[in-house]
Amino acid sequence: MSTQVENVIIVGTGCAGLTSAIYTARASLNPLVLEGTLPGGQLTTTSEVENFPGFPAGIDGFQLMSNLREQATKFGARFEQAKVDSVDFSSSPHKLVCDGKTYLAKAVIIATGASPRMTGIPGEKELYGGKGVTTCATCDGAFYRKMEVAVIGGGDSACEEAQFLTRFASKVYLVHRRDSLRASKIMAERTVNHPKIQMVWNSIPVSVEGVEAGSVSGLKVRDAKTGAESVLPVKGIFVAIGHQPNTAAFASALPVDEAGYFVPVAGSQVRTAVPGVYVAGDCADHQYRQAITAAGMGCQAAIETERWLAEHGG
Ligand code: NAP
Repeated sequence: MSTQVENVIIVGTGCAGLTSAIYTARASLNPLVLEGTLPGGQLTTTSEVENFPGFPAGIDGFQLMSNLREQATKFGARFEQAKVDSVDFSSSPHKLVCDGKTYLAKAVIIATGASPRMTGIPGEKELYGGKGVTTCATCDGAFYRKMEVAVIGGGDSACEEAQFLTRFASKVYLVHRRDSLRASKIMAERTVNHPKIQMVWNSIPVSVEGVEAGSVSGLKVRDAKTGAESVLPVKGIFVAIGHQPNTAAFASALPVDEAGYFVPVAGSQVRTAVPGVYVAGDCADHQYRQAITAAGMGCQAAIETERWLAEHGG
């Protein structure tokens, strides 16, 4: 066990974690940032980010995250590769256990993000991120102007993605495995009645076509009732079957909702019931899930941390 007690440990290096790192480092708190299995977070899987304020020509997702990391490092943030397995927040300093090693910290900011759920069909992984398969219409929809695209899913996210995509795509197929949507009534009605959206009911995704060519050329689906297979001639596939927040390692110490998202205390987006422990970004936000909102929460968590440490002997 390390006997060094850090001022603040930040868990996660997506937009939220790195923004917390910039702010806490700049406040001379010498933060230690733990990065897990996907350094840089979800944005590193996106080719171009066009909606992060300040980049009128857009910016490569990987580059944006590299910039944030460089900015944090410049002010003194330290980085270590470590995936948190469990925590003990019952006493101070807080304990985080990573692969048998225990880290100690007065304050902790958890910014572990959420992972989009994937179908697991052949071709999906191979063509994910810049090659036609994506999980974010807000991020990537504009790349599919005047093209046909498919959205997979039947919940509010799938309906929202499909409606958003009608601004760009010539046609949007909404592929759902049943014959009724799970989405709220108003979202479902708007979606089903949209002239650019074609519902593909009772259809189970089978494979993403185009792996040999290196870009999506179609989505093969199977009719759940007849077993007949067909290929939708799409260039883009938007998987919208939900997200899995990365909160499991902390769930024994902090409250999570039924979907696994952290639940901050009333009146705050980032403060938890445990003094000195904050949450930020997609692990605590199932509503907005944007790079800029995650960065905003990271900033809030950092400022709260600064204040808490000032009051409690940081
Ligand atoms: P969700 O409600 O869990 O819906 C997931 C959808 O994906 C379901 O229709 C499900 O089909 C389908 N699905 C799951 N696994 C699949 C697979 N392997 N292959 C094909 N289809 C699969 O997730 P969500 O839409 O992301 O919504 C999550 C929460 O956020 C919900 O509470 C939602 O109301 C909320 N939300 C709200 C808004 C809004 O109000 N504007 C927007 C987005 C999300 P089945 O229906 O057959 O299970």
